[in-house]
Amino acid sequence: MINLLDLSLEDLKKWMKENGEKEFRAKQVLDWIYKGAYNFEAMKNIPKDIKNKLQENFYISVPSVVEKYVSKDKSTVKFLFEYRDGNIIESVVMKYKHGNTICVSTQVGCKMGCTFCASTIGGVVRSLSHGEILGEVLMAQKEIGEKISNIVMMGSGEPLDNYDNSLKFIKSVNNENGLNIGQRHITLSTCGIVPKIKELAEENLQITLAISLHAPNDNIRRKTMPIASVYSIEELLEACKYYISKTNRRITFEYALVDNLNDKEVHAEELSNLLKGLLCHVNLIPINKIDEKEFKSSSTNKIKNFSNILLKNGIQTTIRREMGSDINAACGQLRRRYVKNNIKEV
Ligand code: SAH
Repeated sequence: MINLLDLSLEDLKKWMKENGEKEFRAKQVLDWIYKGAYNFEAMKNIPKDIKNKLQENFYISVPSVVEKYVSKDKSTVKFLFEYRDGNIIESVVMKYKHGNTICVSTQVGCKMGCTFCASTIGGVVRSLSHGEILGEVLMAQKEIGEKISNIVMMGSGEPLDNYDNSLKFIKSVNNENGLNIGQRHITLSTCGIVPKIKELAEENLQITLAISLHAPNDNIRRKTMPIASVYSIEELLEACKYYISKTNRRITFEYALVDNLNDKEVHAEELSNLLKGLLCHVNLIPINKIDEKEFKSSSTNKIKNFSNILLKNGIQTTIRREMGSDINAACGQLRRRYVKNNIKEV
């Protein structure tokens, strides 16, 4: 048996055809699911014999809400979702004036090993399927009773280490017969798996690619990001240039500031030299403290100063607004706590 959500619209059309049914039935079935009907009986416009056939081959599974936290100012909602096999992941919805953004996880845990990140502490358990990532969006929409208009793939996991499912997910949510979320409203964030960035460039998508850079040189980057020992910043930037040449899209570089590690004025100058002339934007992030690790976020003044140096050097820069810190909204922390307290395998 297969989870129907693991099929794209195209997959289901193909199935209908192969099973002697009209292709338009595929959209009708998925419309029901997008409307929140998670059983075949509810699908009123689908003839009984098709429903029976579907039931023989598929089940419909969305994650269940284990816990839900709403920040005091109501701007952030964090979900702990559980899949059929008991695995837990987290998703966050951030409500902005311009719409609702969801931050989705792409894997249970992560194997990339960045030292400042809570998601990677227990390693990776498994990748999420297309339907499981999509399930995060559908359930979040249902729970908040509003539409999601933006997606950032910045939750737990490395999307380019789960390439096929991540790509299929992007195509599905973008489909005008599905959630119809514009590619420019989708961001994929990666720690920088160079060959996969090049592969993604070939897809010629209009999504935003975000690169977790976090350092102005390889020496510093290697201290916190194991991937930096596999690919140098030079190789990473070369892949970024290739991505830009194929898509003409501006790349976002994420740079989390850690006190005394990567936040000095010389680092800002070094970073400016690195990125000069590149179609890009730097997002400075005050690093979030996690229980298990000893590091401090840079002071607000230092972050502002760092930002000013980049701006003075002509690099587009913004400082990320912190949201939902009262509900542990950052990066795998909730799952860690939940799994620890419930003594489940990580
Ligand atoms: N694996 C992908 C996407 C998930 S992490 C990636 O590395 O980009 C999403 C973003 O959160 C990354 O930029 C990551 O470096 C950042 N991040 C992880 N832990 C953090 C922390 N404690 N404080 C601030 N940002 C963090």
